[in-house]
Amino acid sequence: MRIPITMCHGISAWGDKHLNREHFDSLVSIARELEFESITYDDLAEWMADAKEIPERSIMFDFDHPVKSMRYEMHEVLDAHGYRGNLFINTGPLNEMYSKPLPPDDVREQATWEELNELVEFGWHIGAHTVTHPNLSELFKEDPSGQKLRAELEACDLTLKEKLGVTAKDFAFTGTSWSSAAEKEVMNRYRFGRLWIIGAIYQVDGKEMRYADLVGVEGEDQADGGPPHAARYITKDSNKYRLPSMELQKLVHAPDAFRSYLEGALSQ
Ligand SMILES: [Zn+2]
Repeated sequence: MRIPITMCHGISAWGDKHLNREHFDSLVSIARELEFESITYDDLAEWMADAKEIPERSIMFDFDHPVKSMRYEMHEVLDAHGYRGNLFINTGPLNEMYSKPLPPDDVREQATWEELNELVEFGWHIGAHTVTHPNLSELFKEDPSGQKLRAELEACDLTLKEKLGVTAKDFAFTGTSWSSAAEKEVMNRYRFGRLWIIGAIYQVDGKEMRYADLVGVEGEDQADGGPPHAARYITKDSNKYRLPSMELQKLVHAPDAFRSYLEGALSQ
């Protein structure tokens, strides 16, 4: 069984493949049409431990960063199709926003803690994503002991506990940066670590490396600029600390590419 997993940063004009509500809806509609059901990291953990069955066609909708559109556009679109998301929060932007009077709603970019609490009530799963969002590969060069990262993780977890009542069990690595020291810390604190696929290359311990080599998947990179197809899905054999996720504003942005990605999970 292969589980597709998507990632995005909410409504975003990043790069040349924008994500607005209509486009997000057109992609999520394909998952619904193909009869996928969304699962959370709790479901995934139980399935991997053989403690629970999950739907034959399971999908994960991951999101990084606590921006306002998570609570509105992203949640509303998912909800209309009966889905829930997994949101990884870096706490720095909210610390910053709450250090002064809140901006008016129409200019505010970050979600409030109240809005994030609503997502928790709706059944969204929350994970950790550091405080200041450091490049983990560069941080490794600066501090190979992992101490700075440890402080980031502790502070992020504390804030999530205090503001959302959530004990973070899962972590999303920042950007396309990874380090062995970061993984060690992540393995000490969390049950899953998730990566982010926007192309075939990753930054590993301060150097460039093929994503496929990092996750130990054989085969050539693909013509679309991404890693081998097998590297794009979660399976029972996936390394729990190097889970994939496919950015919606890159390789699977076009509805046809998104459909092929989901159909690629069914052919196994
Ligand atoms: Zn991030």
